[in-house]
Amino acid sequence: MPISRRELRRLLAFGFGTTLLAACMRDQPPRPPRPSQGADNPPTPQATTPNSPSTATASLRATMAPSQTPLSLTPTALATRTGAPLATATQLTNANAISPTTQAQALRALGFDAFADVVSTSQDDTYLYIESNGLPRHPMMIGIRSWQQQLPLAQTYRGSNAWKVPLHPHPAVNPVSARNALYRGAIAIAVNGVPIFNALNNRGDDAYLAGELDNWGGHAGRADDYHYHIAPLHLQAFIGADQPIAYALDGYAIYGLLEPNGAEPVGLDAFNGHIGPDGVYHYHASKTYPYINGGMYGQVTVQDDQIEPQPRLDPIRQPQQPLPGAVITDFITHDATHSTLVYTLNGQTYSIDYEHTASALNLQFHDASGDHTESYAVRSRAAGAGNAGAAPPPAPQPTTSESQPVTSATGFTVRSSAVASDMALPAQYTCDGNGMSPPIEWANTPSGTQSLALVMHHVAGVGDVHWYWVVYNIPPTITAIAANDRSIGTYGGNSVNPDLAYAPPCSKGPGRKEYTISLYALSAAPQFSANTKVDRDTLLAAISDRTLAVASITLSYTR
Ligand SMILES: [Zn+2]
Ligand SMILES: [Zn+2]
Repeated sequence: MPISRRELRRLLAFGFGTTLLAACMRDQPPRPPRPSQGADNPPTPQATTPNSPSTATASLRATMAPSQTPLSLTPTALATRTGAPLATATQLTNANAISPTTQAQALRALGFDAFADVVSTSQDDTYLYIESNGLPRHPMMIGIRSWQQQLPLAQTYRGSNAWKVPLHPHPAVNPVSARNALYRGAIAIAVNGVPIFNALNNRGDDAYLAGELDNWGGHAGRADDYHYHIAPLHLQAFIGADQPIAYALDGYAIYGLLEPNGAEPVGLDAFNGHIGPDGVYHYHASKTYPYINGGMYGQVTVQDDQIEPQPRLDPIRQPQQPLPGAVITDFITHDATHSTLVYTLNGQTYSIDYEHTASALNLQFHDASGDHTESYAVRSRAAGAGNAGAAPPPAPQPTTSESQPVTSATGFTVRSSAVASDMALPAQYTCDGNGMSPPIEWANTPSGTQSLALVMHHVAGVGDVHWYWVVYNIPPTITAIAANDRSIGTYGGNSVNPDLAYAPPCSKGPGRKEYTISLYALSAAPQFSANTKVDRDTLLAAISDRTLAVASITLSYTR
């Protein structure tokens, strides 16, 4: 049952069908067992015609194979780039001569290859790098019954902010269960470039059972970032049931409900995994908790309950609030930048129409409070904004994107002379020193700025934000605040003590913490009624309708 590229596109255009998935699974004869020996055998050059097995998957691979994709992720391209003896798609269908490791690496590339229009991969000796904007080809959000009013927006998982999957996973001495940990960030990356989070939400509830997920197992998170919380089994319609649907961030593959050869998996551990016939550990999906890998069998680094490294998000809006009773009934993608989300609430139908470009997010709400709009300037990520086709392999270094100064669309920037290029906050501005506020200065305030506001905060966990410095009524003529200068603007409170003052960071736990200083250029000063206790939330609420641009820097301090 060969699937031509045109046919594939037609299928993609029609979205997912369980019919197709079922057909794929039914029609495929079991594949020959994977080689469990021959690890030292180099791949043998093969003829260019696939010769076995003649399955939909094999044909699909052939259709998607090397020269047709302009991206860097074909096995051939990878082999050329890295000099590594990777297998070609043809060889994979005839895999007896390939070592399991080599095969696994090439399979990685192939799994993503089926989504080459939205994902690109590259690799070095350590990681497979996966670049995407985090948005799937399938519709989103439809079916959500417990909605936080977040929207799916394209993210910048590119360059140094790409996903990183270890190419040489190792079993951990102390595997980490996802049952009571890893509530922050992703735990896996699907082969369509969409991250997968813990099946439990940040309150420890089953996100699927709570009605928080759409018909594809995903939703938009607090940074308007789309991600799955359960296994995206629908992807198998495009990659074949014998391919991994995702990779856990420890590097081990995640297969669907069945083994690559169609058999029922046996002997699964608490993380939904076991050693496969090739001698390599892998995970499986399940229809009930944990749905996906239930933890990290392999070695990972966990910081602040999140696996590192993983990409940073660039939220454009503040996190939204739940809208009890709302049910999302439709989602229309008009083009790459323009979408409409439709929902019902109390028998009425409402919508949000939004356009997200490189420079702005413009939202038109048609809801219970009438028609209204919101606009946000988009801060551009300076580094690593490669395009999917021609991006060079990302540098194999820790993700630092969020530590770079963020420039708003208008060129509005903020910096601190107290920090060097490593963006580390010197101890004198923390509770380990004399605790004075750091010097900051800014430039290119947008025209029309009548007032500025400043906030310094740290995100300790999902929904757990601490703030240290809140200043508003900063005159538009001011472009700097010197260290320890209390004379400029009006001070709001901090989350540390009752003073209307700068509270120096004083992290309880050991390790590195990040603190973001944001400067808001405002078209008018915020208004507060008498006796309002101004903190970060009240300030952000008061300026949300008058913010022209935001500039920020993220500093780190390690105790
Ligand atoms: Zn989520
Ligand atoms: Zn298995």
